[in-house]
Amino acid sequence: MPNTLKRNQKQETRNEKQQRMTTISTVKEMQQAARVARGEGKRLALVPTMGALHDGHLSLVQEARKHANHVTVSIYVNPTQFGPSEDFEEYPREIESDLKKLGEIGGVDAVFAPLAKEMYPHGQKNNVTWVTVDQLDQELCGRYREGHFRGVTTVVSKLFHACMPHVGVFGLKDAQQFLILRRMVQDLCMEVELVGVPTYREKDGLAASSRNVYLSDTHRHQAPIIYKALQYVRTLIVQGETDADVIRHQLNTMISLNSEGVVQYAQVVDVDFIQPVTQIEPGQELLVAAAVYFENTRLIDNVFVQSPDTL
Ligand code: AMP
Repeated sequence: MPNTLKRNQKQETRNEKQQRMTTISTVKEMQQAARVARGEGKRLALVPTMGALHDGHLSLVQEARKHANHVTVSIYVNPTQFGPSEDFEEYPREIESDLKKLGEIGGVDAVFAPLAKEMYPHGQKNNVTWVTVDQLDQELCGRYREGHFRGVTTVVSKLFHACMPHVGVFGLKDAQQFLILRRMVQDLCMEVELVGVPTYREKDGLAASSRNVYLSDTHRHQAPIIYKALQYVRTLIVQGETDADVIRHQLNTMISLNSEGVVQYAQVVDVDFIQPVTQIEPGQELLVAAAVYFENTRLIDNVFVQSPDTL
């Protein structure tokens, strides 16, 4: 086939994909679109994001497509999950390039990009209805980001009501978020299946994140030590280490000695209640997680690991 023809066909496919993707900014319209899609017998997936999309987000879209035949991506920087001293104002907002990326990969039916007044009709400060999941937010990020998970569970509940998905797709990079949302869905009898997608990584192992662009060249070069250290301690657990303090210490030391990163936490928790583990039990499912500051940029990463059946 001549190259020009191939190019034209490619262009048409791309245009087709772009045309199919509608952008919706109000809850009412979103609900209407979801009702229509449900009426057509479609299985709906929602991929909630805060935009500034990277390949990690796009991997969620691809996964969503495997579980549904109608995919909505929401783009909303949710103010209630940022603390007063956090980067809400500075958080990157790149809606035009986000829409372009989604159009190019295809497979997205709707983008829900609501205005603030749609999500918080009485204003963020006057919001009185919250969804909270107790206990699971006491450690890891929840320990250092007061109110963060209350903001997440509240906005995800709102997004579920607006987009009416059968499936909600989330990244396991934010493991605590995923475990909390999974518990919320179970406890509130929500009719949504949650899918957790493995962390998408750059070639050197660094977890893709919208915040990576803030790293200096030196710190970008050092940051992959977080995942290397997580992999190392995962091996220790698989080989039979039972003292969780040894794991915490090794994780912290390996990151601190090999980078200028300042470790906020290096923790080993159980996956049900996200509580620190002391003695690792046989066949225990664990989450090993770290948060590290490179100057003002806070990076998080984690690995799930099951200890050996006999210890
Ligand atoms: P955010 O825009 O940071 O709120 O992230 C939106 C969704 O993308 C969340 O479910 C994240 O867990 C997920 N996500 C972010 N980074 C990655 C990554 N590197 N790999 C997989 N999922 C990710």
